[in-house]
Amino acid sequence: MVKITSFVTRDVRFPTSLDKTGSDAMNAAGDYSSAYCIIKTDSQHEGHGMTFTIGRGNEIVCSAIGLVASLVVGKDLDEITADWGKTWRYLVSDSQLRWIGPEKGVIHLALGAVVNGLWDLWAKVLNKPVWRIVADMTPEEVVRCIDFRYITDALTPEEAIALLKEVEPTKQDRIKDAEQNKAVPAYTTSAGWLGYSEEKLKALLAQSVKDGFKHFKLKVGGSLEDDKRRLAIAREAIGYDKGNVLMVDANQVWSVPEAITYMNELAQFKPWFIEEPTSPDDVLGHAAIRKALSNTPYGPIGVATGEMCQNRVMFKQFLQAGALTVLQADACRVGGVNECLAILLLARKFGVPIVPHSGGVGLPEYTQHLSTIDYVVVSGKKSLLEYVDHLHEHFEHPAGVKDGYIVTPTEPGYSVQMKPDSMDQYSFPGEAGKSWWTSEEAKVILDGPRVV
Ligand SMILES: [Mg+2]
Repeated sequence: MVKITSFVTRDVRFPTSLDKTGSDAMNAAGDYSSAYCIIKTDSQHEGHGMTFTIGRGNEIVCSAIGLVASLVVGKDLDEITADWGKTWRYLVSDSQLRWIGPEKGVIHLALGAVVNGLWDLWAKVLNKPVWRIVADMTPEEVVRCIDFRYITDALTPEEAIALLKEVEPTKQDRIKDAEQNKAVPAYTTSAGWLGYSEEKLKALLAQSVKDGFKHFKLKVGGSLEDDKRRLAIAREAIGYDKGNVLMVDANQVWSVPEAITYMNELAQFKPWFIEEPTSPDDVLGHAAIRKALSNTPYGPIGVATGEMCQNRVMFKQFLQAGALTVLQADACRVGGVNECLAILLLARKFGVPIVPHSGGVGLPEYTQHLSTIDYVVVSGKKSLLEYVDHLHEHFEHPAGVKDGYIVTPTEPGYSVQMKPDSMDQYSFPGEAGKSWWTSEEAKVILDGPRVV
C-alpha cells in the first residue's frame, strides 16, 4: 500500500525567448516553462507531473496545483486508482475551485499536472510505462478510468467498450509494433518557427529530410508575402511528389473570413491542414473554415485544432459539428490521462485521427504514451506525432525519434521526471548563484522591454 503524504510544486522556466524557439504568429517570445508537481509518498516512489506554459503566469498555475494536489494528500494510491473515473470526478468537484473553471483554464491546467503525476506514481509502483498500463487493461477497465459526464449524448460507456472490443483481437500485434518502435510515426516542426531566418529554415528542413521525416509543419500567419516565400522554400526542400506532407499552423491569429481568404492564397503549396486557424473556442467557425477549404483549385485543405481546447466537452462539439480533420489534444491542458482517454475514444467514434499537441517542454514525453495508447488500444490505426527536438536533455528519460518513428518509452512512469539539476538551474525566480534567472545573462529578458 502506498500512501500520499505531501507534494511539492516547482516553477521551472527555460529562456527559449533568447533564440526564438517556439515563435509563431501569436507567441513572439515564449520561455518554455513547466508548472511542476512532485507527489510524495510513504514509499520510495514519487509521482512527477507537470503542465506546460510559456512563461509569465507559470506561478499562477503552480499555485493552483497546490490547491488541487492537497485533495489527494492522505489518500492511498489503491483507493485513487481502483475507480479512476470516480477519483477524477472527485478532483473536479471542489465547488469553490470549480467556480474558477469549471474544467477549464488555470485550474484545469493544474488538474492535468496532478492527475498526470498520479499516473506517473502508479506506473512506477506497477513498474510499467503509462502506455503499457492502459494496454494491459480490459476494455471495461479502460472505460472505468473515464468520467462520462457531459459526453454521453455522443458516446456512452457501453459504446466505448464496444469500440475497444472491435480492435482488441489484434492488440497483441500492435503491442509488438510498439516494442519495436514502430507504433507512432513522427513529424517535425523543428524548422518551422516563425522567428527563424530563411537560411536556418533551409538548413533545418534539409536535415529533417535526411533524418527520414515525411511530414513537416511550418508556422504561418505573420505576413502573407513572407509565408509564400517560406512555403516555397519548404516545398523546394521536400518536393511535391516525394510522398512528403506539408502542414501549416496559424496559432489563432485570424477571424473566420480571414482564415479562408489567407488559406486560399496558400493553397498552391498544398498543405494537408491548417492548424488553429482561429479562436480555439469557435466550434462553428472551424466548421465553416473546413467547409470553405474543402474544395480549393489545388485540392482540399483540412482543419486541425486542439492544443488550446480546454476539455472533452469542447472536443465533443468540434467532432459533432464536423469541424476537424485532425484532433490535436494536449496532454496537460485537459485533465490528464483520464480525460485524454475520453477524447481518444470520442475521436475514434467520429473517425478523426489523433495527432496530440507536442510543441512544448515535456509534451513529447507525455504524448509518446498517448499516441501509443491510441494506436495499440483505441483506434488500432497508426497516426502521427509531432517531435520537436529541444529541451529533452532536462528529462531523466527523454522522448526520442528513430527512423521516422517515436521511440516507445519503456521506463516505468509517464516520462516527465525532470533532472534535479535542471530544476534548480532554471527555477524561477530562483536562488541566487544557483538559478540562471539570477545571472547577468537573464537581465536581457528580465529588464528588457516586455515582448508580447
Ligand atoms: Mg500549434
